[in-house]
Amino acid sequence: MSTIKIHDKLFAVSITQNMIQEEIKRVAAEINRDYKNKRPLMIGVLNGSFMFVADLMKNLNIECNISFVKFSSYEGTETTGNINQLIGLTESIEGRDIIILEDIVDTGLTMHKMLETITPLNPKSIAIASLILKPARLKVPVYVKYSAFTIPDRFIVGYGLDYDGLGRNLPDIYDAVE
Ligand code: 5GP
Repeated sequence: MSTIKIHDKLFAVSITQNMIQEEIKRVAAEINRDYKNKRPLMIGVLNGSFMFVADLMKNLNIECNISFVKFSSYEGTETTGNINQLIGLTESIEGRDIIILEDIVDTGLTMHKMLETITPLNPKSIAIASLILKPARLKVPVYVKYSAFTIPDRFIVGYGLDYDGLGRNLPDIYDAVE
């Protein structure tokens, strides 16, 4: 088993880059099918989603736009519960089909806040695509239409996800080793 150390913690590969690419192709095919001739606006939530967004976009064959927004609320291995304000949404989303691209839905608070913020801006539709779901941790109901992986309640790093600022560059996803 290939393990790495980040700060004080050991991590072991749990989802390989090949598995990630395969599942992203599946998600992209679903979006290509559902949004044909609709020209959706994809909104990537930084920082964690950047690798997912890049790989998903390469597999979309429909006309689409991409924009990025940011919240900053996550420190260490536990969600702080304080969700900050959304920044970076400069264009009008009125009448647009929106697909929010997120790295992981954990408690769901970030996506809940995102929906609360953009719904009053009158988009035509909103869907969420998240690379990963951790259903055991959900605190608020959030409907995620597209997802690549569902995982148990474990802290993961890699493929855009960090542990205190490190590990985002890893091409595979790693689980914290107990
Ligand atoms: P939520 O608001 O759903 O609790 O959390 C959303 C954010 O928390 C994600 O976008 C992600 O940045 C961070 N997060 C949640 N779970 C994990 C995890 O297992 N590992 C890492 N590195 N970040 C996580």
